[in-house]
Amino acid sequence: MENFVELDKVTKTYPSPEGSKEVEVFGGINLELAAGSSTAIVGPSGSGKSTLLNLIGALDKPTSGEVRVDGQSLAGMSSEEAALFRNQTVGFVFQSHHLLPSCTVLENVMVPALAGHGDLTGKALQTRAQELLEEVGLGHRTGHKPGEISGGERQRVAVARALINEPSLLLADEPTGALDKKNSEKLVDLIVRLNESRILTLILVTHSQETTKRMDTGFLLDEGELKQL
Ligand code: ADP
Ligand code: MG
Repeated sequence: MENFVELDKVTKTYPSPEGSKEVEVFGGINLELAAGSSTAIVGPSGSGKSTLLNLIGALDKPTSGEVRVDGQSLAGMSSEEAALFRNQTVGFVFQSHHLLPSCTVLENVMVPALAGHGDLTGKALQTRAQELLEEVGLGHRTGHKPGEISGGERQRVAVARALINEPSLLLADEPTGALDKKNSEKLVDLIVRLNESRILTLILVTHSQETTKRMDTGFLLDEGELKQL
């Protein structure tokens, strides 16, 4: 089967803040993930997990090497092309929900569709946002503001928002990092269910062994190297 995500000898080096010594995050990473697969990335803090996700999601560019997603090479994209790729192909969920506080839950879910050039507008877009909120168990909270729902519910809204443009890749960077155990389990259940119910390649950064076990594959990122678990 064709790989959906391919990293070929990817390196990333950040210039140091003082301009003296550079920070080499990784020296040459290779990775191949099949379409629809689920993958956990674990590793100590500072090992480059977020950097890796940002490269795959075209939020950042590698220092050298190739990143390909769905056959598209990301390195050569202009910033406009990268923005279009992120909007159409990738859904992001972070540790912090990043919801707009003055918009309702329903409006928050529609934001990526309004920001892009998607086919859905008006009533049809509202209907899809409503359906997604029902799918994440929040059909009864659509008119609430983010400040009026719980932390676990806010993360589920963030997941619904990530899916509004029907992405084929979901990147989740410690999505349960700010949640208690019960809400973490609920969110992981949801993400696993979404990965299984549509063709959605999932890469999830976590510190949890239990969550890692629920993915098809797991990788440890440590000292610049990616090792399959
Ligand atoms: P993780 O997500 O595993 O905690 P990160 O990918 O955030 O790790 O960071 C990896 C390394 O790169 C760290 O040493 C961090 O300090 C450094 N780093 C991350 N982003 C930047 C940046 N924009 N500029 C300079 N160094 C950075
Ligand atoms: Mg991180």
